[in-house]
Amino acid sequence: MERDAKAADTDGERSPRLVLSFAARAALVLAVAALGVLWFVRDEATRRSESAVGFHAGFVANTILRDQLTGAVGSTGRSLLGSAATPASRSRIDHLLRNEVLVGGAVRANLYDGAGRLVYSTAEKSRFAAAASVRRALAGRTSTSIVTLTGSGKALAAFTPIKDVHGVTVGAFELDQDYAPVARDARAVYIPVGLAFAVALLLLYAVLFPILRRLIRRLRRQLEVTEHQALHDILTELPNRRLFQLQVEQGIRAERRLARGLAVLLIDLDRFKEINDALGHASGDELLRQVAARLRTALRESDLVARLGGDEFAVLAAGVTSPDQALEVAARVRTALAAPIVIADISLDVQCSIGISCWPQHGRDMAELLRLADVALYLSKERRTGVEIYTPGEDTHTPERLALASDLGRAIERSELSLVYQPKLELATGRLVGVEALMRWNRGGESLVPPDEFIPLAEHTGLIRPLTSWALQEAIGQARRWLDDVCPVPVAVNLSARDIIDLRLPDEIKELLRRNDVDASLLELEITESAILADPDRAQAVLQRLSDLGVRLAIDDFGKGYTSLSYLKRLPISVLKIDNSFVRGMVTCREDEAIVRSMIELGRNLGLEVVAEGIETAEVADALRALRCDLGQGYHYGRPVAAEQISPANRPRRPVHHGRAVRLSR
Ligand code: C2E
Ligand code: CA
Ligand code: CA
Repeated sequence: MERDAKAADTDGERSPRLVLSFAARAALVLAVAALGVLWFVRDEATRRSESAVGFHAGFVANTILRDQLTGAVGSTGRSLLGSAATPASRSRIDHLLRNEVLVGGAVRANLYDGAGRLVYSTAEKSRFAAAASVRRALAGRTSTSIVTLTGSGKALAAFTPIKDVHGVTVGAFELDQDYAPVARDARAVYIPVGLAFAVALLLLYAVLFPILRRLIRRLRRQLEVTEHQALHDILTELPNRRLFQLQVEQGIRAERRLARGLAVLLIDLDRFKEINDALGHASGDELLRQVAARLRTALRESDLVARLGGDEFAVLAAGVTSPDQALEVAARVRTALAAPIVIADISLDVQCSIGISCWPQHGRDMAELLRLADVALYLSKERRTGVEIYTPGEDTHTPERLALASDLGRAIERSELSLVYQPKLELATGRLVGVEALMRWNRGGESLVPPDEFIPLAEHTGLIRPLTSWALQEAIGQARRWLDDVCPVPVAVNLSARDIIDLRLPDEIKELLRRNDVDASLLELEITESAILADPDRAQAVLQRLSDLGVRLAIDDFGKGYTSLSYLKRLPISVLKIDNSFVRGMVTCREDEAIVRSMIELGRNLGLEVVAEGIETAEVADALRALRCDLGQGYHYGRPVAAEQISPANRPRRPVHHGRAVRLSR
């Protein structure tokens, strides 16, 4: 899909910037390093010149100068330097220095007496500013410094002690060397070094740049692959659920700007599991691939086709302004899958069910659109119509029901839901063998809404999944508390059609059991026949996984729905719950009695536990016991009560049957 190529594009723009920033930083570091080296080289060259001048000055002071001066006046240097003030000696010194010393680059010579006073200079006017250097020289140390001479620019000045024959410092000698040749020498060294550095830098760049670019390109490609894998289905290469959700969100934003609309189509293949089981997984995979390809070619480029998981596909149709247009897209999908798909020389008829919801007509955001499309999909399966578009009027006809649905959506977060538990007893002994959890909704904290009202509403608005999750969490948590406080109490939770076609349900339950450290055998799940018939393949897959966990499964309201005995054989069921309509009538109506009798017989023959629901009187209980029905449940034994009332702390309970108290089985 081109849309997700955008992400890669921005990456492409980002990488040259990365290269440039790296290059700039590398250049900065190298330039600083080069400056450091240059500074060092230059410093080194200067130091060498300085020590040369210092050496020269010292040589002059301690050879020519001392010999000449001490030879003339005797051994006391102090008097020599003092005599430099007299015109005669001054001209001698002058002659000596100008002819012997001020050669080459030397531009000036100064003499200082033992007190640091300037007693002689070859220059006409000489300043006397280097007091510290002179003091250092009088203390016996040679030092150099840069001085500015009037007229002849900068000079490198060396100050050195003058010693007499006994090695006693008697004065200081300053020799100034023209600085220009020194600077020239230093430049002569550091310009080639600088150039060498620049060349090295360029070379480094020439080598580094392509490597860096290649590295970044490879990284980027790796990133793209990872990103692609995270957002696509490996089998069909189609976008996965995550990307689909992102694109629906993005689509809503885009359509809002364009003042158009969009449709979400959830597509579920019928009988896929049968095909998968009959032909094997490889063929199943091939089928999914072919379906994906057909969907891709049947739809416009601008329509997004995704695989949400299993045999569930989805289409995001952009620019759809009316539900009729959405139905056209659905028709295209169905036509695309109409021709048989051939796999391993077998021609397969693949049909699908489609649920549609539209923005802005049905839902406001992505989550709501997907939920409503799911409601429509469920209806299309239930009604076997193939396609259903979400119709708000269908489940929320009146403003009251609309308000009810909206309140129900917030019931969990407002803690308005609770569970009550109805005891289930062994008819022969009156022993309590478990409880059924039944949901209660205290709407707004003031009115109790009966489950017969809010459960169907939840089923038709897609709210049932969170309600079931809540009930499971609550009931399993309660099972844990009973384990801690009393003894194990098996608890049954009711599931709806939508729950048992959710492939994630088994993992959810497994995790809840693990987290509460409750054994799977303590959980029973009640499912109605009609719920199974909505999507038998998927239901079978989910129920099988639940049964594999060790959870017990019960068929609820048995006899009320379309009975398909073959399902009883195929599904991993352990309990049959006879619908209370037959139980209640069995002592007055012969047909009901006959039906209950055959059901008990059937259950026993299939090795199932049989529970009679809705036992309201002692006569009914007696009749059931006579038919050797295993278990019973009903107002006669106990109404649904709060969890605390199931604990032995509140017992002895009123004797309920033939004077026997309810006991918990251990
Ligand atoms: P159900 O699963 O068949 O639950 C048994 C219903 O019969 C309960 O009604 C219970 O109170 C009632 N009952 C028990 N003994 C007697 C009796 O002797 N006589 C009569 N006339 N009724 C009896 P309740 O609690 O009103 O629940 C109604 C239905 O709502 C349940 O029927 C079930 O289908 C649904 N339901 C309740 N809780 C949940 C839930 O947590 N999840 C789902 N999916 N459905 C639930
Ligand atoms: Ca039930
Ligand atoms: Ca029932």
